[in-house]
Formats: sequence, structure tokens, C-alpha cells
Amino acid sequence: MDSADTSVQGFNEQGVYPCPACRLGQIQALSLMDAMACNTCRHIFTANLQRQWLLMVDRSPPLVWHWNGRNWTGAHVEGVKLGWRYWLSAVAFVLLPPTLIGVSAYALVTASGASPPLLSIVWTGLTFLLHLALIGRSIIGFYRFPVRTYFSTVGRNLFSR
Ligand SMILES: [Zn+2]
Repeated sequence: MDSADTSVQGFNEQGVYPCPACRLGQIQALSLMDAMACNTCRHIFTANLQRQWLLMVDRSPPLVWHWNGRNWTGAHVEGVKLGWRYWLSAVAFVLLPPTLIGVSAYALVTASGASPPLLSIVWTGLTFLLHLALIGRSIIGFYRFPVRTYFSTVGRNLFSR
């Protein structure tokens, strides 16, 4: 190791780091290339050492993480941020439709005096789950989270114990 290694926290291309994309593998420099790769999810990264940034370049625009000395923070797409407006509309998208269905079913029930029909309860639950799944899929797609690799690696780790 050279004398410049006094700042252990500094991110450099010679080190081995946890993968910010799958959080299971490790990234390290590819030989003969100005890039780094994960040994689990196979995403390709490049480093911006001045800013201590890591860019996932196999998607466009690239995802960016910042190295804070111990781990990766602040995944965001270069130039794009999922601001509070996105999260607010995501929450509204998930919660509003089932709430509307539930409230209208409840209003019908209290008007007629009967017990709530099972169908409207199931319907409300299904609407909630469907909208949650849609939002989840869009977030996973946005961050390119490798769901399949994640679960297969977790499964392999479980069975190898
Ligand atoms: Zn990975």
C-alpha cells in the first residue's frame, strides 16, 4: 500500500466496495478498463474520484451514488430527482382509489343497514395491492434494482449455510 492510503475513507478505483445496486455483491475495478463491476449483479460502474461519485453507466441516464466514507448514499438519476411531488403522488395513487371504494361501500352499507359485503372488502384490498404493485414496479424500474439476482443470491446464501 502506498502512503496516500492514510485516508481510508476516500473512495478510489483500487479498492473493493459493497455494491450499491444489489447490496449483496462487491464492486471492484475491471482489469484494463476504466470501469468497475459488481461480482453479483454484473452492473458496470465508473467512478468520479473528485466528487466521490459512482455512476452506473449501463443505464441511461446513469444512476449516481455518493461515497460518504463508509457506504453509498443518495441514489439518484443524473439530473433527475424523485422529489417530494413524486412521492406525494405515489402515495395518493396507492391510497386514494381503495379509500374511495371503501368509503363508498361503507356509505352504501350504513344506508341499507346490512353488514359489509365480503366482495367490497376484497375489492378494496385488491385495489390497494394492485396500485402498490404498480408503484413498486415503477420504483424498481427507476433504480434498476436487480430483483431476480437479489432473491437468487439470498436463496443461495441460505442454502449454502
Ligand atoms: Zn451488485
